[in-house]
Amino acid sequence: MQTYQGGCHCGTVRYEATTDLETVVSCNCSHCSKRGLLPTFVTPDRFRLLSGEDALEDYQFNRKVIHHLRCRHCGIESFARGKAPDGSEMVAVNARCLDGIDVGSLKLTPFNGRDF
Ligand SMILES: [Zn+2]
Repeated sequence: MQTYQGGCHCGTVRYEATTDLETVVSCNCSHCSKRGLLPTFVTPDRFRLLSGEDALEDYQFNRKVIHHLRCRHCGIESFARGKAPDGSEMVAVNARCLDGIDVGSLKLTPFNGRDF
């Protein structure tokens, strides 16, 4: 486990997330594929929003269990809040938005979100 800092493009939204980056999901659902999201999931105790709560705009679709939170200044979705299938709270951190991450070196786990 390592604690990374990350956030949106303009720097308004900043957070810390602790993860081993073991599972980074490449999901084929309509939203992830269009946005190019690479979510990795952490429990809320491993996520700390440092700034930008006021700048978050929510987007929901389909079953509306995930709050896709984009910065209203730059439009980047650096994380999302949602619930795991068992109902527990989860934070989906967009691995693309972590500082110092070489996206090409990540091992991606395919997820067939299109059929959910
Ligand atoms: Zn921003």
